[in-house]
Amino acid sequence: MAHYSGKEIEKLLSQTTFQITAALFSQCPRDFGKEVAFVGRSNAGKSTLINALCHQNNLAYTSKTPGKTQHFNFFQVTPHVRLVDLPGYGYAKVANSLYGTWQTEIACYFSERLSLACVVVLMDARHPLKEKDLEMIEWLHVNQKSMLLVLTKSDKLTRNEKNLLIKECQQQLKTVLGEATIPPVFLCSATKKEGMVELYKYLAERFSE
Ligand code: GDP
Repeated sequence: MAHYSGKEIEKLLSQTTFQITAALFSQCPRDFGKEVAFVGRSNAGKSTLINALCHQNNLAYTSKTPGKTQHFNFFQVTPHVRLVDLPGYGYAKVANSLYGTWQTEIACYFSERLSLACVVVLMDARHPLKEKDLEMIEWLHVNQKSMLLVLTKSDKLTRNEKNLLIKECQQQLKTVLGEATIPPVFLCSATKKEGMVELYKYLAERFSE
């Protein structure tokens, strides 16, 4: 398995290309190599962060209308490394029946995808750990999936708010997940490029394992 530095991953990510959209888990591309999946409530800033990580403007579909992407979107970084943009959750306007189908598809993907190296759970730093986020985090925790929590849009917070926020989130996670190891929590801003170096380093480690 290749070993990457944060800088190398940043360079490789800038060459990322769109691979395929899968409507169902069964339509996902061949399960080999490593992939990191991005998930979050609609409007969390997922598309913007994927674009920023890859130094591209139109790679992931960014929209001010939440909940439009109801598919798995695969992006090829190298022949063996992929990013996966998962459907946003918690959007009221998506019909309940459709939402149910998507929960099943996502659960299948998380349970069965062998190349899944890590799940990045994105949350707007101003509204972290909402009910749907906690459901997702608890499910990933119970199913022993490697995860990273990213609080997005950190440019909207003051320095004091940022320090307090991380501590509060860690405390809440301890309460919810028990005394077991809680996942790392990063703060970042796609627009101001804050926290990106840490994120590249983290992704490099996951892709190198
Ligand atoms: P998605 O639904 O999770 O893919 O969210 P988007 O990437 O479409 O972002 C939702 C909204 O948040 C858009 O209006 C973005 O411009 C805004 N946004 C995303 N990232 C940032 C950020 O780092 N800082 C600020 N201030 N706004 C952001």
